[in-house]
Amino acid sequence: MANALSAVRDRIAAAEARFARPPGSVALLAVAKTKPASLIREAWEAGQRQFAENFVQEAVTKLDELSRLSGPGGIEWHFIGAIQSNKSRTVAERFDWVHTVDRLRIARRLSDQRPAWLPPLNICIQVNVSAETSKSGVPIPETPELASAVAELPRLRLRGLMAIPQPSSELEEQRAALRPLVETYDSLRGGGLPLDTLSMGMTGDLEAAIAEGATMVRIGTAVFGPRGESSA
Ligand SMILES: *Cc1c(COP(=O)(O)O)cnc(C)c1O
Repeated sequence: MANALSAVRDRIAAAEARFARPPGSVALLAVAKTKPASLIREAWEAGQRQFAENFVQEAVTKLDELSRLSGPGGIEWHFIGAIQSNKSRTVAERFDWVHTVDRLRIARRLSDQRPAWLPPLNICIQVNVSAETSKSGVPIPETPELASAVAELPRLRLRGLMAIPQPSSELEEQRAALRPLVETYDSLRGGGLPLDTLSMGMTGDLEAAIAEGATMVRIGTAVFGPRGESSA
């Protein structure tokens, strides 16, 4: 675990250097779906603090097991799965970030359900950059309107955009797939939204994402090893 984690940190640092990004400008989000709490604890012991989960029920079990690692200076939990309305309250109560907001109705629920004693929930809007193959994410032309509306919600803090592009094994293709997301992000910032997070890049396209300006990469396989067949 510690070795895998440090290999991923090296990959990030090498990509920052290769693509003229400032050292330390890309945060590593360790994606722990289907992996046991014991592995998260090992990663924590190796210095990792930001973790992501995709499935609410599975996540709650692990959050409970690791509750002593939460709190100020502790683990920061990111939700990166599809949000069902009937699970939004748990997400609003238990997570620090949500990367997968793609409609206003869910954003409103999360804002309404975010407990008053917690800081605002950090939000990335999921944008659909591969419309032919994917159903999740807001279409690019509708992103500015959704972003403005989410930015107004009292218990949310809009941080940026997220995307899961269609997989490709070729660097230039991977970069091209991410570019519409980057252009949308730049244009929203140009329009005055104070965004600071571009959540893009997974095990297979980490370098392309860093080349295009990712500020947070979401890495599962390279940190925790491959996931079993039965899992998503
Ligand atoms: C599983 C998952 C990842 C991590 O994918 P790897 O290829 O294992 O690095 C990143 N983002 C999302 C949204 C995921 O569901």
